[in-house]
Amino acid sequence: MAIAPPDGAPAQPARSLSVGILTPSGNDAKLATEILGKARIDVRPLADMDALCAAIVSGVGAVVVAEEALRGPSRRALSACLESQPEWSDVPVILLLAPGELSGAIAPGVADVAVRANVTLLERPVRVATLTTTLRSALRARSRQYDVRDSMTERVASEQRLRAMVFAAPYPLMLYAQDGQVLQLSRAWSDLSGYRAEELTTTGEWTSLAYEDPRESEAVSRHDLETQDDVVGMPRDLGERQVRTRSGERRVWSFQAVSLGALPDGRKLRLIAAVDVTEMRVLIERERQARLAAEDANRAKMEFLAVMSHELRTPLNAIGGYAQLLELGIHGPVTEPQREALSRIRRSETHLLGLIEDVLNFAKIEAGRVTFDLEPIDAGALTDGMQALVGPQMLEKGLRYTRAGSPGVMVETDIEKARQILLNLLSNAVKFTHKGGEIRIEFGVREGWVDICVSDTGIGIAGDKLDAVFEPFVQVRSYSSGQGGTGLGLAISRDLAQAMGGELSVRSILGKGSTFTLTLPAAKGAHARRKG
Ligand code: ADP
Repeated sequence: MAIAPPDGAPAQPARSLSVGILTPSGNDAKLATEILGKARIDVRPLADMDALCAAIVSGVGAVVVAEEALRGPSRRALSACLESQPEWSDVPVILLLAPGELSGAIAPGVADVAVRANVTLLERPVRVATLTTTLRSALRARSRQYDVRDSMTERVASEQRLRAMVFAAPYPLMLYAQDGQVLQLSRAWSDLSGYRAEELTTTGEWTSLAYEDPRESEAVSRHDLETQDDVVGMPRDLGERQVRTRSGERRVWSFQAVSLGALPDGRKLRLIAAVDVTEMRVLIERERQARLAAEDANRAKMEFLAVMSHELRTPLNAIGGYAQLLELGIHGPVTEPQREALSRIRRSETHLLGLIEDVLNFAKIEAGRVTFDLEPIDAGALTDGMQALVGPQMLEKGLRYTRAGSPGVMVETDIEKARQILLNLLSNAVKFTHKGGEIRIEFGVREGWVDICVSDTGIGIAGDKLDAVFEPFVQVRSYSSGQGGTGLGLAISRDLAQAMGGELSVRSILGKGSTFTLTLPAAKGAHARRKG
């Protein structure tokens, strides 16, 4: 068997087409060399049978032997040499017989060689044309033998390459034949399973070691290993199985099989590949548990917020109610300083109620307890009159207000929720814009979406805080101190926008102003919705 040299190129043995000639009479050989040389056949005169046999072993295109050279031990040596040729080789032998022999009985020694080898008999005197044509056909046949040899060598080399690749694979690979003979295992298969390649010479040995239950072992053999009907080169997923290693550890391997066609002997060749997914499975399970625990914790938090907000509202309403009764003088006359104090109590109560309302709202949205009534709404109508809701504060700060947008833009939304979002954005814009600033609300259509932008020329938000402002209970303290609020307005607004199939985003430059954009789906039929 030819071994591939280290660089991977198969060795290419010589394809000698020279003709070895053994004729005890020196004259014959000389004559033949001359004649055949003219016909451009390369001739090598040989001194004796040993030289002839050596030529056959080292490579020769054909041999011409005179009958007289086949006496006793010489004949046996030639027979032995011809019989020990490699599988692919059947060197053509041309035997030159004595005159008249072909018409009579052939000597038994000659007949003996003739039946065992690729022999052509020529009776002397041989015509030059006969000898050259006989030799030419012999050399052509010899050439074909060399082709067979080369393709056998290439097949061996390519099998060696395949085995080397399987062996070196960093994960479990098993190359096996249809009858269960394991041809090659990857080192990773042995390393991970703990079983040496010598212990896994058949697929049955593997299944009986890897699967505790003999019924499972048998089922795996039948299902994974013996199914031979798949298309060559098409991997087939065999799923995950728990396998037992030599040390008794249970690992989860995920298997794939691929059919690689047939071996030269006709048996089908298959490859099984596995990935050890044990750790991955553990991590996925841990992650699932952690997510469930986090969801539980979040639900508990939301329930607590909802209950607490509800419980706070009742005494707060009582405080407000009694303060109102006092203000009305029900319990006797009220002095001016007392009235002032009572009015502060009422303002604080209203403020607190607003905050509690926010918390309740947020808890409800997060718990998925808010329902949406989506319908096509005219964006102009949606934004119309919004400034009246923040009118007093705008007036107080002397803020300018503008509104822009083309008519007929239809948006698919729940009008109450959309207005709640816009009111929150407007209130923030008023809150965070200095006196004399400007607030603008405008809308436009973009590939199936409607953008409604609320811009201000206020204090702006630092780039690294842009994401955080949408998180619940986040306030950018240094800018908003003294402005009140819970830090829930934007979290609620974004949850609402997303629940309606839209989004809330922000662009801002610190010290220059911010633009919050509420993006909602355009109403179907009015504009084509963007895919994805
Ligand atoms: P709240 O207004 O109750 O504090 P929000 O969730 O509405 O809560 O806003 C969170 C934070 O985002 C605000 O405290 C403020 O720091 C910042 N912010 C929101 N809108 C603006 C704006 N238009 N200009 C500057 N900062 C803003």
